[in-house]
Amino acid sequence: SPQIVWLRRDLRLADQPAFHAAAQAGPVIPVFVLDEGAPGDHAPGGAARWWLHHSLADLGSTLARHRSRLILRRGDAVQHLATIAGATGAQTIHAVRHYEPWWQDAESRLGAETDLVLHDGNYLAPPGFVTTGAGDPYKIYTPFAKAMLAEMPPRACLPEPERIALPDEWPDSDDLADWNLLPNAPDWAGGLRSFWQVGERAAQARLERWGDAVAGYHDRRNLPSEDGSSRLSPHLHWGEISPVQVWHALKSRRGEGWATFAKELLWRDYAQNVICQFPGYGCESHREGLDEIWRNPNRGHLIAEDLRAWQQGRTGYPIVDAGMRQLWQTGWMHNRVRMICASFLVKHLLIDWRFGERWYWDCLVDADYANNAVNWQWIAGTGVDSNMFPRIMAPLSQSGKFDAAGYIREYVPELADFDDERIHDPPDEVRGAYPPKIIGHREARERALEAYRAAKA
Ligand code: FAD
Repeated sequence: SPQIVWLRRDLRLADQPAFHAAAQAGPVIPVFVLDEGAPGDHAPGGAARWWLHHSLADLGSTLARHRSRLILRRGDAVQHLATIAGATGAQTIHAVRHYEPWWQDAESRLGAETDLVLHDGNYLAPPGFVTTGAGDPYKIYTPFAKAMLAEMPPRACLPEPERIALPDEWPDSDDLADWNLLPNAPDWAGGLRSFWQVGERAAQARLERWGDAVAGYHDRRNLPSEDGSSRLSPHLHWGEISPVQVWHALKSRRGEGWATFAKELLWRDYAQNVICQFPGYGCESHREGLDEIWRNPNRGHLIAEDLRAWQQGRTGYPIVDAGMRQLWQTGWMHNRVRMICASFLVKHLLIDWRFGERWYWDCLVDADYANNAVNWQWIAGTGVDSNMFPRIMAPLSQSGKFDAAGYIREYVPELADFDDERIHDPPDEVRGAYPPKIIGHREARERALEAYRAAKA
């Protein structure tokens, strides 16, 4: 009898354990359900919808080459899958396990109604694979990464199915174009189109190019003016490639570049491990007491204005504005700059990390419930690991230290004519159309530390 594959953020055919198992068991019905209700506030944002459209189109055409199809439905995923299973006589539904709280809930509801077989596939190892001496899951990154490294390499990759058997009858499918995942007017996605190639083959091509560059990762990854990181994040988020494939493709490279890169991949597993322990992590501070820092009832109006200036890249801090504009234009931001911009919002502007998390969520093509929340809470000091709040990043010196001049020239054209010395902090009298600083660094730093002391008291 037919086997359903329920696809979510695992939009690939190679090393896809659910697809692999289904293809071995019988005719396959691949199904993707656009369920915008289950995730609540974490339904895909604008940039993620753009990516999803192209990724589904790509997977659909790959399946068509196998004479198969991708069945698209919109609404409650559990209901649609149960209905399709009933109508087609499909015995089993195969899916790669997902750990976002709404998917955990959907998996348990669907498992109660149907024969749902869950496979591990999107991480180097399933959360809980390594535990502390006391048998608990890790909360802190460093010991987690050490324990994981001792267990690497990960499982072997699964090949792409050579033959996909077809069901006698296909269930109805929506038309992708009717989902309106792409922007109408205004069309803000021009930058995304020129920056990204979407889909499984594009992910493989990027990995191949990255293989030659990974050796330089340790030295170049913190320099926003250089193309020094893999830019695999949206492909990994959407599961167009698995971290297991990435690991096996690069593991023979050795050297400092690969060693540092492997640890970054482990951050991704770590973040998943955290949300499994604390499912509300995307919305709730782990150290709730620190929330007092951002609760100032007299600042409502200012907060809205400051938030908008940050979102639009008009803070008067070139490195911050370059980052926020890169995010808007390309759906991606350099990791070092993601940190600087996040720190600026929660510390210089004293705005709750959740506003920043939301904006990144809406603008990033790699927006990921676990990675986004874990990094935001880490910067805000509210997370499970050490409290970073009092360590206030100085955006102007970070900009010089990490040689961001070229990056600023690219994304803040008003400053394109400034030399390397002055571009990080142009003197007020020559800023021209570029805005003045929204708040002085020293004043912001003192205000943040004062709010921190008050929250702790
Ligand atoms: P590389 O440096 O090439 O790293 C390889 C892969 O490792 C990445 O693709 C990613 O999957 C993983 N990785 C690297 N750094 C981290 C990290 N700190 N945490 C978790 N995984 C990591 N990453 C997301 O994928 N989605 C998000 O929503 C997200 N939000 C973030 C929010 C903030 C405030 C910060 C500071 C970081 C955030 N990151 C997020 C982590 C990181 O910035 C991106 O993963 C990275 O910049 C992606 O570029 P890359 O693929 O070139 O990374």
